[in-house]
This record gives sequence, structure tokens and C-alpha cells, in this order.
Amino acid sequence: MMALSAKYGGMKVITLDPTPNCPCGQVADKQIVAEYSDVKAIEELAKESDVLTYEFENVDLNALKDVADKVKVPQGTNLLYITKHRLREKNFLRSAGCMTAPYLPVKNMADLKAAIKKIGYNCVLKTCEGGYDGHGQEVLKSDADLENNEHIKEILATGDCILEGWVPFKVEASVMVARNAKGEVPVFPVSENYNAEEILHISIVPARVSKKIYDKAQAIARRIAEAIHLRGILGVELFILDNGDIYVNELAPRPHNSGHYSIEACNFDQFDVHDRAICNWPLPKIKLLSKVVMINVLGQHVAGVRKIIPQKSNWHFHDYGKAEVRHNRKMGHVTILTDDIEKTLQEINDTHIWETKVN
Ligand code: AMP
Repeated sequence: MMALSAKYGGMKVITLDPTPNCPCGQVADKQIVAEYSDVKAIEELAKESDVLTYEFENVDLNALKDVADKVKVPQGTNLLYITKHRLREKNFLRSAGCMTAPYLPVKNMADLKAAIKKIGYNCVLKTCEGGYDGHGQEVLKSDADLENNEHIKEILATGDCILEGWVPFKVEASVMVARNAKGEVPVFPVSENYNAEEILHISIVPARVSKKIYDKAQAIARRIAEAIHLRGILGVELFILDNGDIYVNELAPRPHNSGHYSIEACNFDQFDVHDRAICNWPLPKIKLLSKVVMINVLGQHVAGVRKIIPQKSNWHFHDYGKAEVRHNRKMGHVTILTDDIEKTLQEINDTHIWETKVN
């Protein structure tokens, strides 16, 4: 999607991805097929490019550092250094004045037990690096969950970990924010998000929260963009509590699944704004043109969604062109512009394609 937006703007795109004919490779001018840690391939990419961008936090930091003096990497390596490691990210968020879940670093079982004593149940153990969509996490509710728990051992074996207190949030939300070198900071509308098995299921925009909370969420995103000297786009994931407190859950240094609604629903979408920001084009004020619901199409939804296309003239179907359909793999999404969010959610529920119902 980032490549498509770049192409509309007249840019040429080369992508590096280990899967031949990957989704981006299908629309880019060229694909280099290589691992994200392949220094030689990253050097080749740098040599052929004017500007290098990453849209994935598991890119090899050292490989990126190696080429940062040979090609422009507007997002820089510090953004990746902070956001690819949960503990560094939480420390940064606190230093920027944001509220987060209580957390402690954990390296082994003794640390874990000591951390649980301080934080208490319920809590969640997470790997510091490499986790996504709930991978590398274990929710702990009592001492019984610690006994003979192979998953905990696996998580601890990966290296640095973090224990977080469980946040009894009322709503999960997210805000996309961007910044260019001139310091222009467009902030996107607030998205209300629902997960199924820790994978984003539905985003509703604008989030159904009070104006005060809505404005506060956008202000937090703006503050983070300034504090991290952001270049490009950043996804800010939030927990909104009953008392109006907003905790920052995590940051994504790239376009984010919960921002896909912006392709149809905003004057400029998150990919346009990212491409503009890293090329130091001027950045627009973002306007929401319509209320919108975005729903993910995972492997198990593909057949149902394909079947329903003839009945849904007003649904925008996106298919990422991934070759292999797997359970819980993100294969595409559907965007529905609407005047009535509740009616649209009901329309989605009535298809019975998705097990998780949101009202
Ligand atoms: P993460 O990969 O850290 O974003 O976690 C995936 C999902 O798990 C989040 O979107 C939340 O729904 C849930 N989650 C993770 N950490 C916490 C927490 N400390 N408190 C409450 N829910 C959490």
C-alpha cells in the first residue's frame, strides 16, 4: 500500500523481502529477494535508492546502521532502536510524560517471581523483541500459571523480557501521527480497535469516546512525535480507562493496520503521508471525510469474503496478494464508509463470516 501510494506520486520503488513476488514486490519496480538481516542485500538496496524506509520493526538494526551513512534513512535508526524493544519503548514513553502499564524488566524465572510480587496478578510476560500480534506473550492470572509452563520457559529463553501489569481498559484505540523535517505534525483521527486472539479485528473511526478523550488521545500522539523527533509515520496504540486515563500500550514506527481505513476515509491516507514525510514534502492537515469501519480478512475469512463480493457494492475489498492462505494470517481487509456505524457493524455480523462480533 505504501508502494502504491509512492507510485501515484511518481516515485520508483524497490523492495527488499525474503518471499519472492511478495505483496509489495507485485507492485514495486523491483524486488530484492533477501532476508531482512542480509547486509549485502541492504547495501545493494541502499546503492540503488535515494531514500530508504522501513515498515517493519524486526528489521536488523545493525544492518540498517551500516548503510545509514550511504543513503538517506529519514526515519533514522533511533526510532527503530527504541520501538523494536519493549523495555526501551516503555522507558522512552515514561520519559516523554506518558502513562503506561506498570512494568519491570525480567531475564529469568527468579526475576519473574520478584516482578510478580511487585506488580501482582493479572499481568503479562512479553519478549522485549520480535513479538507481534500477541506472539511471545503469556498472560498470568495466578501462581498456578507459573507451574510447568513451557511457554513461559520459551519466552524467557529468548533473552530480555518485560512483565506488565494488566490494564483493565474500557476501550483500545490508536492514533497515526506523522512528522517531517520541518516539524509539521499531522495527526489522524482516533480509531477504536477490537482484537480477536490478539490480532486486530475491527477498527471504528471516529472512536466512540467523548471529545475530551478524543482530543487527549491526539495530543498524546503529537507529544510522542515531538519527543522522538519523528520522521515518517508512527502508530500509537492506547488503552483508555473508565476514569478517562489514557495509557500508551506500544508504538509502531510505520503505517499500521488500524490506519488502513484512511485509504478511503481521509483526504490523505497514512501511506501518502508517510511517503511525503520521508521525502520531506509538505504535510497536509488530515480530514476525516466519512465515518468508517475497517475489518481484517484473515486466512479463515477469505472464502467467505470472496463469496460475498457480489452482494456488497459499497464495500472496498483489499487483497494483499499473499500466495499462502493460513489461519490467522492477514490476507486483506474490507473498508466500509458509513453514516451509521452501529448499522454497519450489524451488517458485518449478519454475514457470519467473522466469529467475533462487535456492536
Ligand atoms: P501487544 O502486542 O503488546 O500490543 O498486545 C496485544 C494485545 O494484548 C493488546 O492489543 C491488548 O489487547 C492486549 N494487551 C497487551 N498488553 C496488555 C496489558 N498490559 N494490559 C491489558 N491488555 C494488554
